[in-house]
Amino acid sequence: MSQEAISDLIRVKIDRGDLPSSWPDKTWGSVSENAGTTCAACGLPIPEGFGLVEVEFSGSDLRTFHPACAHLVAAICGAP
Ligand SMILES: [Zn+2]
Repeated sequence: MSQEAISDLIRVKIDRGDLPSSWPDKTWGSVSENAGTTCAACGLPIPEGFGLVEVEFSGSDLRTFHPACAHLVAAICGAP
């Protein structure tokens, strides 16, 4: 999937309310420990052993992203 396609998907998800529209402070890098983990932006799996970014949106709404996808979401949300 191209970066542009993923960006479009992220915008649709934000419009629908599937993704929060503001980027939070609580983010941290981790490694996928579960082959069933999927990225909240592109919807593709994050294979076990691969790097991921965990993001805690308001409340305890925890989402996981591919590092590249997290970067795109942050850019679209206007993260500093
Ligand atoms: Zn992704």
